[in-house]
Amino acid sequence: MRKLLILAILCLNYQLSAQDYFLEKFKPFNKNIPSPEEFLGYGIGERHTRHDLIVAYLKKLSEVSARASFAEYGRTHEGRILSMLTLSTPENLSDLPNLKEKHLAFTDPAQNVSNYDEVPVFVNLAYNVHGNEPSSSEAAMLAAYTFAASESEEIRKYLSNAVIFIDPTINPDGRDRHTQWANSYQGSPLVADPQDAEHDEYWPGGRTNHYWFDLNRDWLLGINPESRGKLNWYHQWYPNVVTDFHEMGSQSTYFFEPMKANGSLDPIMPRENYIDLNNLFGDYFAKALDSIGSLYFTKEVFDGTYPGYGSSYPDLQGGLGLLFEQASSRGHKQTTPFGEITFPFTIRNQFTSSITTVRAAVENKALLRKYQQDFFKSALSRASASRIKGYSFGDAYDQNRIKAFVDKLLLHRVKVLKNNDGSYFVPARQPQYRMVQTVFETYTRYRDSVFYDASAWSLANFYNISYSAQSRELNGTPVTSLEDFVKILPTERSDYAYLIDWDDYNAPAALHYLQSKGLVLSSSFRPFTSQTNRGNKNFHYGTLLLPVKLQKKNSDEVFNLLKEVQEKFQVPVYAVKTGLNLSGVDLGSRFVRPTEPPKAAMIIGEGVRSYEAGEVWHLLDTRVHMPITKIPVRSLKGADLDKYNTLVMVSGNYSFDDKLLGKIKSWTEKGNTLITIGTASKWAVDKKLVNETLIEEKKDTLATVQRKPYADAGDNIGKESVGGIIVEAELDLTHPIAFGYQKERIPVYKNNAVWLAPSKNAYATVSKYTQSPVIDGFITDKNRDEFLRKSASLIVSPVGSGRVVMFADNPNFRGSWYGTNRLFLNALFLGNHINVPK
Ligand SMILES: [Zn+2]
Repeated sequence: MRKLLILAILCLNYQLSAQDYFLEKFKPFNKNIPSPEEFLGYGIGERHTRHDLIVAYLKKLSEVSARASFAEYGRTHEGRILSMLTLSTPENLSDLPNLKEKHLAFTDPAQNVSNYDEVPVFVNLAYNVHGNEPSSSEAAMLAAYTFAASESEEIRKYLSNAVIFIDPTINPDGRDRHTQWANSYQGSPLVADPQDAEHDEYWPGGRTNHYWFDLNRDWLLGINPESRGKLNWYHQWYPNVVTDFHEMGSQSTYFFEPMKANGSLDPIMPRENYIDLNNLFGDYFAKALDSIGSLYFTKEVFDGTYPGYGSSYPDLQGGLGLLFEQASSRGHKQTTPFGEITFPFTIRNQFTSSITTVRAAVENKALLRKYQQDFFKSALSRASASRIKGYSFGDAYDQNRIKAFVDKLLLHRVKVLKNNDGSYFVPARQPQYRMVQTVFETYTRYRDSVFYDASAWSLANFYNISYSAQSRELNGTPVTSLEDFVKILPTERSDYAYLIDWDDYNAPAALHYLQSKGLVLSSSFRPFTSQTNRGNKNFHYGTLLLPVKLQKKNSDEVFNLLKEVQEKFQVPVYAVKTGLNLSGVDLGSRFVRPTEPPKAAMIIGEGVRSYEAGEVWHLLDTRVHMPITKIPVRSLKGADLDKYNTLVMVSGNYSFDDKLLGKIKSWTEKGNTLITIGTASKWAVDKKLVNETLIEEKKDTLATVQRKPYADAGDNIGKESVGGIIVEAELDLTHPIAFGYQKERIPVYKNNAVWLAPSKNAYATVSKYTQSPVIDGFITDKNRDEFLRKSASLIVSPVGSGRVVMFADNPNFRGSWYGTNRLFLNALFLGNHINVPK
């Protein structure tokens, strides 16, 4: 600390000028409160600031200023602190519980309060969801300092009229990955050449979090601790305005809302949000940026249609979410066609927008409050007017998947009722009606067909939930917690054998756990009916058999492990005393096959789609609790593949030479399983690793090509890409890859143009799209009719004694596709036992 102070004093002269670049306008400042420069020992923009220092600075402000209070709202995967600094006048802060209650009255449709101007407006300035878009967290420190220490008239007015919540870094793990990169390659003097390593971050880059997830898609999905912590915070405070600061390519200027008009018309979002509020705020940002000479644009490129962005989720909660995009200096200084773009310049724009957001919120306080109140009131009136009174769902086979789905509903504060028959009902008439619509409704018509991201997000389909719209309200008991949600009877002891349902989402985790303890389990490739300790029961394809006397452990040890596995994973286990079944195959049948534990590796690194690789890693780490070796592409040549029986290749650009290709092929031929996802499946076909084909586009000839306006090119081409839709596929339920499924038709997520032709081998096409395949989202008629309806979603193709499991679509998309995760896990756990007849 002392060292920092000395350094700060030594650099005082320089720092004052650096500070003035940002802060001149808000002078004078309270001298007892350290500026970021004084605290850090360097001027803002001179380096990239580590997240722990940002947190330490905010804590410091809360210690020395009565205007600031610090709180932690969670921890990241890597254990970094997720923090929130609350800023207002000391009077407001000490009265915060009371102000909060008054504020929340506007979000409760049952109340009729009208003191719109009386309560300070709640503003959440949130920064740096993409770790390698670093300007905003630096701006967060400047904003925190300004609100804590400025004595200017203007800032004092804002503090009286607002409670400002500063979240400096939504994605600390990604930010620090990038910070380390940018600082370690920083030259002195700075190197502005875009080809310098400082501006060319190595795979996977800092955009994503620990598991390479894009947290700016996770607000709806709530998979990662960063978003879960934030959502819990959000639903305590319901801010009126929320910022979401980003950076874009260096060859640009600055973007603020309004967004692309057409794409932003979410069918369930109030129009006033996109039209009135964004235009109103847009004028403020324009004036503020004009005053410092910055260029900007609006209404292009970005659309806020997908409700899981940091700038769109607040719109679904009666707030105003605001997206900002700054052209990145990616590094400390970079040459662009506009001249050199410096890190301080990018920080100043974000800082300017931060203060301006508070200004616009304060000056429109009553309007924002009235808007939020109307939003929640209209949720009830719209629900009342709807024919649909709610949605019923349930699943007799898989309580853990239902639990994961209900967890999402509760995370978004959606009311869920449990009926007497064990099914669930979500009433439409509730304050979160729009979230209910978001989760259950599907849309196939759009005004604009070029989407920045997905065009489908009906969450119920992600979980393969059987649900139905109801025309009357059903009664039930509200579900308030997930404790004891899954009701599994503890197994009784058996000296003969145990059976474990493969239908449950957690069954693969249970299998891995038992295998890792040295037990040998078999998988039944046929259904049967058995006499169990709980009566006669039908067991489906894939049921696990654990014969007691064949294990190296004694009966007590086996029983104890089963108790443990039930406690950990809540899977149904049955004790049986005889191998003679009532119908179907007996337990000693040759169709009940001992399973070999998967020894899995995945190729990662430059060229590999990090999101998909991260999704595999995340699934195995957090749900199956199974290690997977991540082999970098650059080490693949020298890697000993014989240590593994399963290799995963997700989408990517794989430019392997013939030698490496041969290495993978001969490894597969030995009886191993190669799992390919998305474009890796296309690669396997292109490289003739498998004897399969693709459905390919007929090329235009000179006779068929039509002239089109040059200006339409972007839209025309954009339309043809499959941005992310939910489609229906039909499974062969007797195939090991489909074990655990009870219904042939399942929703799958498609966001690529990988069109696998159904195999010429009659037993190889596990899953094919149906004839009316589109469940939710936008696809052109041409893509639907000429490609989608004709192609396969999943093929298991024989290669020597091994096989390639080819997924056209990503079964693990964004960690949220509980409905298709099982296909992938079957490939992992049962892949080596599939012998495709040739
Ligand atoms: Zn971004």
